[in-house]
Formats: sequence, structure tokens, C-alpha cells
Amino acid sequence: MEDGILKAMTADGSIRAVIATTTKAVACARERHELSYTATAALGRVMTSGLLLASLMTRQGQVALKFQGNGPLGRILVDAQPNGKVRGYVDNPQVELPLNSLGNFDVGAAIGNSGFMHVMVDHGFGRPYSSMVELATGEVGEDVNRFLVSSDQTGSIVVVGVHVSKTGVEAAGGLIIQLLPDHTEETICQIENNITTFGTFTFLMRRGMGLEDILKRILTGFDVHILTDVEPVQFYCKCSKERFVEALKILPKTEILSMAEEDGQAEGRCHFCNEFYYVGRESLLDLARS
Ligand SMILES: [Zn+2]
Repeated sequence: MEDGILKAMTADGSIRAVIATTTKAVACARERHELSYTATAALGRVMTSGLLLASLMTRQGQVALKFQGNGPLGRILVDAQPNGKVRGYVDNPQVELPLNSLGNFDVGAAIGNSGFMHVMVDHGFGRPYSSMVELATGEVGEDVNRFLVSSDQTGSIVVVGVHVSKTGVEAAGGLIIQLLPDHTEETICQIENNITTFGTFTFLMRRGMGLEDILKRILTGFDVHILTDVEPVQFYCKCSKERFVEALKILPKTEILSMAEEDGQAEGRCHFCNEFYYVGRESLLDLARS
């Protein structure tokens, strides 16, 4: 099943929801960065959160998320756009931890429960807006929830999950449910009850359910209106050899010359997608002369 993202609302106006499946995008990140199981779960949850927040907060801009906790993974950085493009990396992709007491990947310990989550929202015009919250648990979903509650004062429910096994990333995705001012205490109880009854997000995905089915299952008891077409999701990085060459042009000519003479080439790696770029000796000499 292809990855996608869509938005919905309930007929009574009490709930707004955005839901995404990110299995292939997370598998792509895992392959590019050679991620451990724990790092796959952590980066996958942050990538999914980035996409959900981008879809909620901007129409044509971008949301950048940075998790900076005290755990062994180091920083996690993700850029996501409402059109479904997402990229990201983790400082220490090889870190592996034992499963936690619930039998899940220990993302909380890997990211750490002390530190910050930074959110930068660029609407595509004007100044980007940035804010920061202290990590709640480092489990990602709860941290994103804390950010939403602190930023817009409405209640929300955030679910993000990644199921990865020896055969690879089997399911990844999540949703954010925002409770608008019309909601009641029963609204929250009903949704929490649905989530407990029907199983985790990745469990529903692995049973072959699509975006709309999962959303309607989690919002059982509400009249759900789908607001958008499914937007495809993909791991996408905007780096290119041309951009790498442009970056080289900023260097002093003497430095470009010495790269050409001493190293015979310039080499660069994109942190976000792990792509390597090379510029050969002749091209460097051309740059130094231009
Ligand atoms: Zn890149």
C-alpha cells in the first residue's frame, strides 16, 4: 500500500484529524542511513510527526523538527512539507537498545527523557516561527502532544508508531486528533476507548487497513467527513550536485585550488539523505578560475 496523508473533521465540529502512513518513507530512511531497529523506530516516529504537523500547520511551507535529548541517539532532525515530502536523520544511527518492559523499541531511552523538542514552522512567506518544549518522555508522541497543548491550548491525541522486524519496516504511521472548543469530556473518553479496543495504529495497518478505514475505526461513534484527497508521502531530499557545487563557490579560490591539487577532488555528504557528491579535479580548477 502506498504511503499517504489525509485530513478529516467530524460533522459536529468537535474534532479535526490528520492521519498518515509512512511505511515506505521510513524504510527508505532506514536503508539510506543504515539505521538500527531502535533508530528506525525513533526517526520513523519523528518523520511521521513532522508530516502530521506540517499538514496541520501550513499549506505550502515546511515544518522542521529537532529532538535534542540526553539519550545515546543524539539529535534527530526532520523536515516535512504538507505535500508529503519528508527527510530526516539521526546523529548516531547505529545505536541499539534492548526492548523496554512492554516489549517495544525503547525510543524513550534512546532519545532521552530530558532535553528539548524544537519546532520551526515556515509558512513559505514571512518570518518562520519557532518554539521549543521540554521533552515529556522522549517517546515522540507524548512530546508532540505536549507541544500542541502548549501552543494552541486545545487538547489533542497524538499516536505515532513504527513496526520493524527482520524483514524490514512492516508498518509506520500515525495520527493527530485535535479537540476543538466544542468537544466534551465524553469525546476524549470515546476516542481513548476506541484506541484501546481496536489496537495500535501499526496493528491496524498490518491487517491491511487503509487511511480512511483506520481513521473511521479510531473515530467510531463520530460522523467523519474526509476533507482532502490522499496526498502521497515520500522520503525526498532537495540536495543535488548543483547545490553542492554552488556551496563550493562560496569558498576562497585558494581553498578550491588546494582541494584540486592535494585531494584531486571535493567530496560532500548530505546529512539528511546520506547522498555523497564528488567534484573532480578539472571541475575544481574551472571553479577556481571562474
Ligand atoms: Zn540530501
